[in-house]
Amino acid sequence: MKIDGFSGAVLEPGDDGYEAARHIWNGDIKRRPAVIARCMGTADVMAAVRFAREREMAVAVRGGGHAVAGHALCEDGLVMDLSQMIGVRIDPIMGTARAQGGCLWRHVDHEAQAFGLAVTGGIVTHTGIGGLTLGGGIGHLMRCFGLTIDSLLSCDVVTADGEFLVASEAEHPDLFWGLRGGGGNFGIVTSFQYQLHSVGPIVLAGLLAWPMAEAAEVLRMLREFAAEAPDEVGIMANLRLAPALPVFPEELWGQPVVALIVCYAGPINEGEEVLRPLREFKNPIVDAVGSKPYVAHQALFDPAYPHGRHYYWKSWKLPPLSDSAIEVIIEQAKAISSPLSAIPIFTLGGAVARVADDATAFSGRSSAHDINFVASWLPDDPEPERHKAWARRAWEAMRPYGHGVYINFLSDEPSSQVEVAYGEAKYARLTSLKSKYDETNFFRFNHNIAPGT
Ligand SMILES: Cc1cc2nc3c(=O)[nH]c(=O)nc-3n(C[C@H](O)[C@H](O)[C@H](O)COP(=O)(O)OP(=O)(O)OC[C@H]3O[C@@H](n4cnc5c(N)ncnc54)[C@H](O)[C@@H]3O)c2cc1C
Repeated sequence: MKIDGFSGAVLEPGDDGYEAARHIWNGDIKRRPAVIARCMGTADVMAAVRFAREREMAVAVRGGGHAVAGHALCEDGLVMDLSQMIGVRIDPIMGTARAQGGCLWRHVDHEAQAFGLAVTGGIVTHTGIGGLTLGGGIGHLMRCFGLTIDSLLSCDVVTADGEFLVASEAEHPDLFWGLRGGGGNFGIVTSFQYQLHSVGPIVLAGLLAWPMAEAAEVLRMLREFAAEAPDEVGIMANLRLAPALPVFPEELWGQPVVALIVCYAGPINEGEEVLRPLREFKNPIVDAVGSKPYVAHQALFDPAYPHGRHYYWKSWKLPPLSDSAIEVIIEQAKAISSPLSAIPIFTLGGAVARVADDATAFSGRSSAHDINFVASWLPDDPEPERHKAWARRAWEAMRPYGHGVYINFLSDEPSSQVEVAYGEAKYARLTSLKSKYDETNFFRFNHNIAPGT
């Protein structure tokens, strides 16, 4: 197949490289697109959009390929594969980054950290900046610098008509509002411009762990600590069976643990004082907190979430953890069905909560936490449904405490959950924006916002 004006590879079933190109992070997703168009830049994206449009082909957009529901792939249609578009340019004078739409977080961090700069990014370095930014972006630095979108300055966008435009506060501000939380619904972002912030390159960061038997006390301590913690503290919890990774001593592998993962985004000596109460709390069985490169801390979770394993998840946004919510979380942690599954709990607050909720399409800035029930199993596991059922049950058990959901942590929920994620008023604004920029719902392999009337 030939796409006029396209410079990258065009892969069809049977072509060399096609099989590798149709694999994404979640090995549970197996789709066979008719064409994978490996875009090399904005010109290719424009050409491929026009090509697909003229032929009325279904189109999926692949950034980092991490959406758990597999939105980066469609069956039969055309995949707009941005994985070759990974250029990053830092402007150290202005403290900004310009990153192509297919970058992973490790590409951005690598370049930015050469200048001691960073922007809030995901906690796994092989996640794409595309999907993560467009959904909002939570991570270790968010309490200090806000969500990823709070540092977004502008986007280069290819629209559903194959036209190019820039979205920023000054140009197409309505679209810029929607791109900051509305996902991939409005166009293909071929490059993102971020405001960067001084971070590290050496930070005080790492993991603390206690036996699961102490989880209630640890989570209550997290509640008290997070309520008073300075913005520089990034802190999340994780409940699971200790994985066979170097951060845990071998005798703990497979043991149920509760961990706190911290990152202090300020001076090391200040961080030592601020984090001391955590490190002195009930004698942790692991204290791997220390001075380390920010990029090393960013990669801490990488080996726990490898490509090709099978995944399924469900999540909630939560208010501060009540004692009864903590009990439910621990009950669900004890019921985990696979040694690879986990319950990460992000802590929001700080700079995230100081931006007005209607300033961007992202919703739920006042939430204290985001909890994710991540089911994971090996490809040859005979009981995938058992692991998925655990995530669904745990999610149901948390329902009385959940007050919304982060769009990037949705999985296979029906479209009604997308509306729940935004709330009625914001969803109405998003549907009318969708009508303006994509009235035929050309971009629909995503957590879809259908065009309004
Ligand atoms: C291991 C792991 C860790 C994660 N950690 C975090 C975290 O710390 N913080 C957080 O906020 N989220 C996190 N997430 C969730 C993550 O934000 C979403 O999965 C996100 O969709 C991933 O983006 P992607 O580009 O890698 O995925 P893809 O599957 O490629 O894309 C996801 C969606 O975004 C669209 N899209 C991607 N790139 C573009 C683009 N350039 N222009 C237009 N549309 C685009 C796609 O069409 C698709 O609909 C994590 C996910 C995984 C799997």
